[in-house]
Amino acid sequence: MSIIKRITVQTYAYELDDVGANVMVFEKGGKSTVTKFVVSIETNDGHIGSYAPHYGSSSSALAQAKDMAPALIGQNAEQREKIFEDLKIAWRHFDRVGIAAIDCALWDLAGKKYGASISQLLGGFRKRLPVYASTFPGQKTPGGLDSVESYADFAEDCMKRGFQAFKIHGFMDGTAKTEIAIMTAIRNRVGDGLKLMTDPVSSLSTFIEAIEVGRACDDLKFYWYEDPYRDASSSAVAHKRLRDFIQTPMLIGEHIRGFEQKADFVLAGGTDILHIDPELDGGITGTMKLAHFADAMGMEVQLHTAGPMHRHCMSAIQNTHFYELGLVRPHDAWNGFQPPIFICDYGDQVSNVGTDGCVPVPTGPGLGVSYDWDKINKW
Ligand SMILES: [Mg+2]
Repeated sequence: MSIIKRITVQTYAYELDDVGANVMVFEKGGKSTVTKFVVSIETNDGHIGSYAPHYGSSSSALAQAKDMAPALIGQNAEQREKIFEDLKIAWRHFDRVGIAAIDCALWDLAGKKYGASISQLLGGFRKRLPVYASTFPGQKTPGGLDSVESYADFAEDCMKRGFQAFKIHGFMDGTAKTEIAIMTAIRNRVGDGLKLMTDPVSSLSTFIEAIEVGRACDDLKFYWYEDPYRDASSSAVAHKRLRDFIQTPMLIGEHIRGFEQKADFVLAGGTDILHIDPELDGGITGTMKLAHFADAMGMEVQLHTAGPMHRHCMSAIQNTHFYELGLVRPHDAWNGFQPPIFICDYGDQVSNVGTDGCVPVPTGPGLGVSYDWDKINKW
């Protein structure tokens, strides 16, 4: 038995180049400091598992992970189901985003203990994952995706590189007009060469604008339509109504927190495809439960954002299509948003995608990636 003897929750900070004060904006020569965290769990028999969240590395997730950790000392590190359940109940007043890093570190530990990748532990069958390019938001200042034309250029570039699908995060100015302009320009440029999706990021100002963009998705044969308007995709009833007006499948769920709450949203008719975020929805344990729930209903899921945890989960989920490679934009040299903490060849940039339009599932024990601990400790 592997008993948890120590949990370390460690922050680190690093500098991003070529970004504005808002790190989502490309600005040549600009700099910004980003702080993230990593959880490591050690057991009495000498095993260690770690996970460094990426997009889910918020200060609230950090605070929760720190508060959750002490109660796990002395527990069996392999009883992930029990730990998930205990944390879910104990943190019932909150959104429970702290569970994910702990859960993933426990899976990493188990994989290392048995010399198997997490994909193997999950019964994974995919070795390579077809990606979609998920763009940075558009910007008004020069650089990055700064015009309708630059979106079309970037989509064409991604198509030539072997990508099979491309998702727009637009200018988020609240209007259907700009959104539809980008969608139309890209479709005209790439023809049927890419599956296209759009995610207005809850920015469209009204329900009617959401219908308007949805009808454009129908006309332009978009693959899915995600989080359109300002209810922040929180209302299942509203999205059931919206689905009555449009044909394109809707991808909702990114902003619904809670295991049972996500199931309720699906059962109330709020979406066609369920969005699950491994870093916000209870790690691997929470993600796989939700994926199986959806599968039993004939529903597909999409995993939100990128990372090694996502790849292992996706390798073992039947009812899913694409790996979200994001966020990307037309600057290959740019080091991206991904924390530069890997000493292996792991990466989630445009340049990491193979000519087959896929990225690999790591094959080493546990997560199958190596963190650069010297860098993390220094930072
Ligand atoms: Mg989204």
